[in-house]
Amino acid sequence: MAKIWANSGDSHFVEPPDLWTNYLPPAVAERMPRSVKDPDGAWETIYVDGSSFRRKMPTGARNKWVNGKTVLEMSEGSEGIRDVRLRMTELDEQGVWAEVCYPSLGLWQTLIKNRELAIAGAQAINDWSHSEILSYSPRLVPVAELPLLDVDDAVQELQRSASRGFKAFFMPIDPPEGMDTYNRDTWEPLWSAAEEANMVAAFHIGTENHELAVLRGPGARVASFVETSFGAMRVTIQMVSSGALERHPGLRVLLSEGGASWVPFIADRMDEAYNTEAFVSPRLARMPKEYVYDQVYASFQHDPSAIPAMAAMGYQNVMFGSDYPHVEGTYPRTQEILAELFAGASDEVRYRITQGAFLELFPHVGAPPAAVAA
Ligand code: MN
Repeated sequence: MAKIWANSGDSHFVEPPDLWTNYLPPAVAERMPRSVKDPDGAWETIYVDGSSFRRKMPTGARNKWVNGKTVLEMSEGSEGIRDVRLRMTELDEQGVWAEVCYPSLGLWQTLIKNRELAIAGAQAINDWSHSEILSYSPRLVPVAELPLLDVDDAVQELQRSASRGFKAFFMPIDPPEGMDTYNRDTWEPLWSAAEEANMVAAFHIGTENHELAVLRGPGARVASFVETSFGAMRVTIQMVSSGALERHPGLRVLLSEGGASWVPFIADRMDEAYNTEAFVSPRLARMPKEYVYDQVYASFQHDPSAIPAMAAMGYQNVMFGSDYPHVEGTYPRTQEILAELFAGASDEVRYRITQGAFLELFPHVGAPPAAVAA
């Protein structure tokens, strides 16, 4: 069986423990997000600027059910999570050509409440990721971190990042507490700057400000897992229905990790609102579905329904994502999973989902060896 090369719209790096102290004065560094794991490794405590919260670690050898098979749950994968050289070997072995790289600690940075601290933190993480990831290989597409407590600050760091070669920026599903939701005009300067700099707005699921464990008792674990997808839907609806994507036709949005077949569904629901609600405001020039299908991209790991989302529902912006190295991810079985997913798919569908959609956002990564064009 020939290797199926895929680009990944979702992967992660773990920042080195000395990141903040290397890039920031000690008094600033100690207020930055850090993770302290319990001795037994089951839980971690995340400390951010004087406050903290506890989080269960996805470790251990629980069994995990994937595509009808029981496999061992992966924890933090291999050392490629911290060592970029080893990572490239793993990418080659797994058949991942290029990948969007999200931070790990950086995902918590929106918990910072102080504007200057948020700026310093974003700059530090971007300086590190520029020198260690972005400059290492064009196959690695790290997302820039933005200080989101003030839109002008965010614009400034976006522009600085774009000028240094970043192609995407990380956006949390919820804006930092106290900031307006993404449908508000507050964010207009950021969307304008992103459009102008051709930077992709990369939202990663599970980055809400509120507890995602919405259910207690029977079924709670499954409910919490699925709950993370709803935030991706909310962001997409806000960006489309508010007219943000209409005003910025060059702005592309990526929703990472939450699956893809929900995209046609919410597009239909928004169109239905247009067809039945008299007081839609603003009323966009085109139907909501058209903005969704043109400007919204979504990455998935295992979901068999993601392939028919493109093949049968006509949504072209479906993108594979390995979610390396998380438990929900495909490492170390990426090839096996890709073969299962695309067993019944046409070459055109497979090419689009594994490479084409990604290349539309990040053409600079080029083609893998011996890639077969559609
Ligand atoms: Mn992920």
